[in-house]
Amino acid sequence: MIGLISATAAGAAARDRLAAAWPDRTRVYEGLAGDAVRAAFAECEQLVCFLATGAVVRLVAPLLGDKASDPGVVCVDEGGRFAVSLVGGHGGGANELAVEVGELLGAQPVVTTATDAVGLAGLDTLGLPVEGDVAGVTRALLDGEPVALDAEVPWPLPPLPFAAQGAHTVRLTDRAGHAAGGEVLLRPPSLVVGVGASRGVPTDEVLELVEAALKDAGLSPRSVAALATVDAKRDEPGIVAAAARLGVPVLTYPAEELAKVEVPNPSGAPLAAVGTPSVAEAAALARGGELLVPKRKSARADGHASMATCAVVRRPARGRLAVVGLGPGARDLLTPRARAELRRASVLVGLDQYVDQIRDLLRPGTRILASGLGAEEERARTAVAEARRGQAVALIGSGDAGVYAMASPALAEASDDIDVIGVPGVTAALAAGAILGAPLGHDHVSISLSDLHTPWEVIERRVRAAAEADLVVTFYNPRSRGRDWQLPKALAILAGHREPATPVGVVRNASRPDEAARVTTLASLDPATVDMMTVVTVGNTATREIAGRMVTPRGYRWQEGAR
Ligand code: SAH
Repeated sequence: MIGLISATAAGAAARDRLAAAWPDRTRVYEGLAGDAVRAAFAECEQLVCFLATGAVVRLVAPLLGDKASDPGVVCVDEGGRFAVSLVGGHGGGANELAVEVGELLGAQPVVTTATDAVGLAGLDTLGLPVEGDVAGVTRALLDGEPVALDAEVPWPLPPLPFAAQGAHTVRLTDRAGHAAGGEVLLRPPSLVVGVGASRGVPTDEVLELVEAALKDAGLSPRSVAALATVDAKRDEPGIVAAAARLGVPVLTYPAEELAKVEVPNPSGAPLAAVGTPSVAEAAALARGGELLVPKRKSARADGHASMATCAVVRRPARGRLAVVGLGPGARDLLTPRARAELRRASVLVGLDQYVDQIRDLLRPGTRILASGLGAEEERARTAVAEARRGQAVALIGSGDAGVYAMASPALAEASDDIDVIGVPGVTAALAAGAILGAPLGHDHVSISLSDLHTPWEVIERRVRAAAEADLVVTFYNPRSRGRDWQLPKALAILAGHREPATPVGVVRNASRPDEAARVTTLASLDPATVDMMTVVTVGNTATREIAGRMVTPRGYRWQEGAR
């Protein structure tokens, strides 16, 4: 819950806008500002104070405890010009809240946390449990001192500017133990604990067994990603409660699936009870990985028969491949999600000209693998290979990366051992359409005139079909120095089914600094004015030029009515 506090009428007006926009997330604290701040501080995860920073500093100072658990506090000035992240920038989420509040109120977010200011990912914002000298190592990163990454387990981390060697270290490890001086331990969720149990197993018996297994093997409980078991034990209270106490989910698999997993210690008891010769080992190994702790049984002090078994597996790292569309060129047509994925990736793969387009958005330490035109297959292979090594990779393309771009060659190479995240982008056809007016108001197709990947006969057949079906057509890759006859040929096919006066939109470099657009007709388009930076959109038989804009009616009814 976000507590909202204000003292004046102007502050209350801004407060009410926020409360109206986020009715379920916010609670308004009325009354004297001091009392309101104290009450909200005790009850809420976050505060937005429509008060001067000085006043808020004085009010919250005596309340501050631990930065990991204190609420995040954002201040908004009376004029609603600034949203200041005051305390709890990371732990309290105040930095993100300042940005959100800023967007909503039209205020400038003010974030002064050093790591955010220089674009570094904070070590405590990576989404992994962290131990050790976070402040010291962060300072070293900020000061440009060498910090080495010691990745015992590969994991798709966001970028950080690591050096080959250094006095400071970030160790990515699931092994138990404490951080040395100048060291930070990051705990990847790399361990899966398989659990088998008889009905009615006590929670403590499961927990003690799991904890002892981890401890004896020198593994950190903070790296446990899940408990795994057979479907039949999905609701076994002792397992469910143990998982809740460890703060992890329970994964379950059908007995038939577990029966197929090869394990070192099968036995007859679970086979009779649930239909698989192994539960703990098989469930832990069901998605692959390395068996670190073979099956062991719980020990009971009271001499009763053991009711639980467990086994620990280090699962293979799942790399992350984000296929990111950058939009047609303008920075504000790049989606916030695309921007977040670019900053999430530690490896960026793309055509050099697209890399240049977004280089300033990348975090320090991002490894850039740029290549020239034509090397598509190789780019796709590189991106997938990096993801399979456990890296967080962004593969970029202009417009939408799934449209005549990198998504399909990459996914043709990819296997199911990596996570793939697609981020849609504004395509050239859509960007051009918005500039031209509303040419895509009814059914439409895109056709690439490049016969590099597609034989001309196929392209021609598709153009003919689009002509006959009266579809609006956007031509991509319309004409280059070496390919100059295809566009006239395609236009001639369309002219066989449409009037010479049919509107045609030509847009070059949509949304880029040298954008140029015009609306002409099928009869008067000069193909020589078209190049590879251009898309050409040909209207259907209903498309009209209205006030200089190209408009395709949504149906044919008003057109008939107009006749
Ligand atoms: N994935 C891209 C298309 C890549 S194919 C997309 O979704 O838009 C390359 C072709 O796209 C170019 O030859 C040109 O025809 C078109 N194109 C890309 N960006 C453009 C822009 N900003 N303005 C006009 N055409 C563009």
